[in-house]
Amino acid sequence: MPVLVMKFGGTSVATLDRIKRAAKRVGREVANGFDVIVIVSAMSGKTNELVGWVDETSPLYDAREYDAIVSSGENITAGLMALTLQEMDIPARSWQGWQVPLKTTSAHSAARIEEIPTDNLNAKFGEGMRVAVVAGFQGVSPEGRITTLGRGGSDTTAVAFAAAFEAERCDIYTDVDGIYTTDPRISDKARKLDRIAFEEMLELASLGAKVLQTRSVELAMRYKVKLRVLSSFEEYDPNAGTLVCDEEDIVESNVVNGVAYSRDEAKMTLISVADRPGIAAAIFGPLAEGGVNVDMIVQNISEDGRTDMTFSCPIDQVARAEAVMNSSKTDGELNFQEIISDTDVAKVSVVGIGMRSQSGVAAKMFEVLSREGINLKVIATSEIKISVLIDRKYIELAVQALHDAFELEKHG
Ligand code: ADP
Ligand code: ASP
Ligand code: MG
Repeated sequence: MPVLVMKFGGTSVATLDRIKRAAKRVGREVANGFDVIVIVSAMSGKTNELVGWVDETSPLYDAREYDAIVSSGENITAGLMALTLQEMDIPARSWQGWQVPLKTTSAHSAARIEEIPTDNLNAKFGEGMRVAVVAGFQGVSPEGRITTLGRGGSDTTAVAFAAAFEAERCDIYTDVDGIYTTDPRISDKARKLDRIAFEEMLELASLGAKVLQTRSVELAMRYKVKLRVLSSFEEYDPNAGTLVCDEEDIVESNVVNGVAYSRDEAKMTLISVADRPGIAAAIFGPLAEGGVNVDMIVQNISEDGRTDMTFSCPIDQVARAEAVMNSSKTDGELNFQEIISDTDVAKVSVVGIGMRSQSGVAAKMFEVLSREGINLKVIATSEIKISVLIDRKYIELAVQALHDAFELEKHG
């Protein structure tokens, strides 16, 4: 029988009633003739609670225990979903990641999926099981320890199962009815898109649109998984939601198709470093080794052989970045006057594959933001996106202004 993957996010399994509602949707697809693999998240709020408990118990925690604890929310929903389906007379059972086994690297809290053997689940499907409920977000390392795939990782579990089982489609059920031109929670003018290209979704996800985990989009693109995002709260409609697809399958595209934002950014400036060959390597090499994810970089104008170097990184890595830089200074490998950290910044980006062939998007973006009196602290561009770092208090204003200026409310 053809296989369908259905993933239910935290809000879609937040209560027993919602689990029942989700189970009814699964039942409908079973009746449509599919063997279904259901991927579940933890009930909404559960993972945050577990992370809080870890932080409170042990600030410099053992990452293996973090994963053992933080993955547990999914175990509960997987079991409850299987029981609910059984109550509906649908043959179902739950699987934790290690039971499948979903094999990952040992990079705890950010593990990558290496392999999903299909024989265990297929044997059960062969015996008449119609639904395999799999706990999302978790796997097992080569050392036999439980791993997790990073926040939002159940999306990636779902796409990886769809690829491994050559599923007909991977449906991501969430609390919005599709992918929008921007986060519908920040702008009531956001428009739902019927389709979005993999490349654009990849950029939007990596620039902060958490509707899909970035890695899930990468996998879907690589393995040609038919990926759809839709609401678990609306009535059943076979054409609902947004399809993430190849660029060629989109008839009409615009220069800019989406605006994304990320609140959790920080800007760091090293004041007065020597302006000499190799200075960037002396700064960013140790930062990379220290596990700091540097995003945007600017080297300021140089005077008297000295220069300022500015970069951005996630806000929760500021302390680590400062420690790395200070120890490079103590080692004598890097000389600078001081580090200034600004933790009140956010990143706003516009994304569109149409930018490849149209110029002037950056100029328009800068003009719109300047008209609103928003100062740009750092700018970064790539082929299909332009990102700016601004004061965090201006996020809503910047997103709205850009959404208006690029006429995104006319899309969808
Ligand atoms: P789930 O728990 O189902 O995985 P998430 O909270 O991870 O749900 O992702 C859904 C959320 O993503 C939405 O509630 C919405 O606020 C946010 N989001 C951000 N950008 C977008 C966008 N462009 N389109 C749709 N939703 C978006
Ligand atoms: N429960 C995990 C999280 O909150 C994984 C997920 O929901 O995708 O990040
Ligand atoms: Mg999510």
